[in-house]
Amino acid sequence: MSKTLGAPNQNVITFLFDTKKMFINGEWVPSVSGKIYESLNPATGEVIAKIYEGDKEDVDLAVRAARAAYIGTWSATSPADRSKLLHKLADLLESHSEDFAYLETLDGGNSINLTRHGFVPGAVAHLRYYAGWATKLTGQTIPLTSGGNFHAYTQREPLGVCGQITPWNYPLLGTVWKLAAPLAAGNTVILKPSQQTSLTTLLLGELIQEAGFPNGVVNIVTGSGRSIGEAITSHPGIDKIGFTGSTEVGKGIMKKSADTLKKITLELGGKSPNIIFADADLDKAIQGAFMGMFTNQGQICVAGTRLYVEKQVFKQVTDRLVEMAQKMKVGNPLDPTTQMGPLISKEHLQTVKKYIEIARQEGATVLTGGNILQDDNLAGGNYLEPTILTDLEEYCTAVKEEIFGPVLCVMPFEHIEEVIERANLTEYGLAAGVWTQSLTTAHKVINALEAGTVWVNTYLKSDNGLPFGGFKQSGIGAEMGYQGIEAYTKTKSVLINLN
Ligand code: NAP
Ligand code: MG
Repeated sequence: MSKTLGAPNQNVITFLFDTKKMFINGEWVPSVSGKIYESLNPATGEVIAKIYEGDKEDVDLAVRAARAAYIGTWSATSPADRSKLLHKLADLLESHSEDFAYLETLDGGNSINLTRHGFVPGAVAHLRYYAGWATKLTGQTIPLTSGGNFHAYTQREPLGVCGQITPWNYPLLGTVWKLAAPLAAGNTVILKPSQQTSLTTLLLGELIQEAGFPNGVVNIVTGSGRSIGEAITSHPGIDKIGFTGSTEVGKGIMKKSADTLKKITLELGGKSPNIIFADADLDKAIQGAFMGMFTNQGQICVAGTRLYVEKQVFKQVTDRLVEMAQKMKVGNPLDPTTQMGPLISKEHLQTVKKYIEIARQEGATVLTGGNILQDDNLAGGNYLEPTILTDLEEYCTAVKEEIFGPVLCVMPFEHIEEVIERANLTEYGLAAGVWTQSLTTAHKVINALEAGTVWVNTYLKSDNGLPFGGFKQSGIGAEMGYQGIEAYTKTKSVLINLN
């Protein structure tokens, strides 16, 4: 921890001291195999923790615990009591906010401003939002059209045991998004965080225990996607998979889940278009495009990676973006003045760098950035300059594929029909942005874009009440809002003969 900034967080250091165990049936247990993996600090390359590595056997134990808790305890726990426990967890998380922000930054490289003011309060708010839903799931009485003296109604019931698999880019928030809705609806849960960022999920496990959730209602298994991830997706004792991650892995999960016909929600990759028309408030549009691209080092599924700018203002916009990128403070994510931290891993850094090289070979111009940063302060970390590419065609690799790093593609356009067609020229459909002062233009673009979320004169804004999900190959189903909890329930129809 030599290169951390300011006073190290003592609670976190204490937490990191022991090899981290898995949380199964209310107890902290080592993996059956006894295998261990290491978690690294992406800012320094140093090992910050050792974690037990689970396998199929550990998933079996977790499924057994989750099934028993579902049948024996959780399904008999009243919605009001489920709500109370979720509120209690939210309160505990809030009171430990700083520990979570610090640990999240240490483990994942997300800047401390983002973890402190974005991810951690966001997780607290999300728990509270779904705590409210626990008591508001209702069925309907149905007037029958076929006659007879019947009382017919529907009721919503939980699905059972949910296997929840999350990526590394906002680990705590990602975990909480996979936890609150299923629990509120009466399911039990097995969490599988990314191997690269399991620590805040494990720390949350301590609060889940302290809040008093019955044993087995929440279980945390740690290890690789290839072993425990696959064990979860193919396990006959699991009823639903909630997955956030890459489209490639998502497709594999869908195939595997088919054998036992599991319900699935998939939140997958993106290559989101962001469109600036010449009539837009350009100051706001440029700020929005920049923030929508480079927040969290571009490691955001909805990042506006394809920026289309109307020809008349193309130079003005790109000049400003380049200037902003060159002024951006890249560095230690624990420093509150840092604007961009390291990428998650050395391998990912090399992948992103390779995309930049391929872009050059395909004729792109690198307007700024493109280099790995290696000065003394940053040595050991996975730092890349914020990068802006132009002179790109729609078929270029950098325009087509999800890079998941700080690489923006900027392209000019001339007509609204042309930009709509180009914006939709992707297999993804996660999100999109449009900047204009014309309501007519905005509506035309909103209706034509194939994306699960469209932002107008803003970018990245999300809300617990607003469904979030991908079109096309960006996903199936949605999180947030009523849709987010409905996805963890099934409808039972009841017919009572009144004669
Ligand atoms: P990933 O490689 O797909 O991994 C996601 C999770 O799945 C990790 O926990 C991973 O485990 C696990 N996994 C890997 N292979 C698996 C398998 N065969 N079976 C079951 N689980 C498996 O994605 P990532 O690199 O962590 O995250 C980046 C991706 O997530 C990007 O594509 C991004 O767009 C997407 N994402 C989407 C959203 C959204 O809401 N749409 C939000 C955030 C991120 P290990 O890594 O531990 O082995
Ligand atoms: Mg790490």
